[in-house]
Amino acid sequence: MYNAGMTTACAIVPSPGHVFPGHEEAPSRFQYFGDWDAKPYRVAFLDPEPAPREAVTAVHSERMLRFFEEACRQGPGITDYAPTYVTQTTYADAFLAAGATLACTRAVLEGRARNAFAIVRPPGHHAEPEAAMGFCLLNNVAIAARFALANGIQKLLIFDFDVHHGNGTQAVFWNEPRAAFFSTHQENIYPFRTGFLDDAPHARGRIVNLPLPARAGDRAFARIADEALTPLVERFAPEMILVSAGFDSHWSDPLAELGLSSAGYFALAQTLVTLADAHCGGKLVFTLEGGYNPKSVASGVEAVLCALTGPSTSLGVNAFAAQDPSPYEEPEIEDQLARLREWHGWR
Ligand SMILES: [Zn+2]
Repeated sequence: MYNAGMTTACAIVPSPGHVFPGHEEAPSRFQYFGDWDAKPYRVAFLDPEPAPREAVTAVHSERMLRFFEEACRQGPGITDYAPTYVTQTTYADAFLAAGATLACTRAVLEGRARNAFAIVRPPGHHAEPEAAMGFCLLNNVAIAARFALANGIQKLLIFDFDVHHGNGTQAVFWNEPRAAFFSTHQENIYPFRTGFLDDAPHARGRIVNLPLPARAGDRAFARIADEALTPLVERFAPEMILVSAGFDSHWSDPLAELGLSSAGYFALAQTLVTLADAHCGGKLVFTLEGGYNPKSVASGVEAVLCALTGPSTSLGVNAFAAQDPSPYEEPEIEDQLARLREWHGWR
């Protein structure tokens, strides 16, 4: 029996024209998704359209967009040291990626889907109101969050588990009391200047940064789910949760050194589903950020989709546990969690 309320929506934007010699943020990141008809779950695919300009200018300045469009017209080229690149198709690709994230958000807001996943590139969370950076052109999750706040959502949470700090998203919502932002990331890596516990003393309990030691993985994230994510949701009481899903937190990622496995991603996504069901009427939208081992991107996407489509999907955490366990020992994160509680007054 078809039940729209239980549907998971999905929009895929592979952007084959957005490609640069030797760069990790490449269409090949999507090469192992496989045959969608053979999956143990069913999702409803949406046909994305480019984001409307006014949805994008709710986050990025006209000046930034003019510079971005002109850089693409003259492309291919490099726009920053990350390095971030553009090609002649990047402007259109980025608008389509943002549009796909919006389509997923609308499907959830309008009750056509229970939850959704925008599997898009280029990614977005480093992109700031005035500047593209860190492989990111338009901030997809911020554009979707601004749209949700303009269309009936009073308060929302953006959770960012990419291995890098979501500096762009933090900047967009720096002074927005209706949006909470929680970023977990590896300490002392790109973008270097943000993501510290004490970045935002004016927004304790709302802008939450948890820098983690290298190799922190499934065990650390199980504690984070219980001891940070859950209390944040209970206290902030969002009506919707948006997720910046970066699979570069996988232990095998070539650009970083956190220690999540597919089982860890599944458990984390399940926690998010449970929290969204309990507090947000189920409203939960994932959007893809980083992840540069194409195999761990595919297994991470699979883990998230299994959690989003549950409980109708029979696969549980055991299906992922044996798949790709981290070979590294995990550090304790007791001190990091204690400092986090102290800073935010979670006692
Ligand atoms: Zn990243």
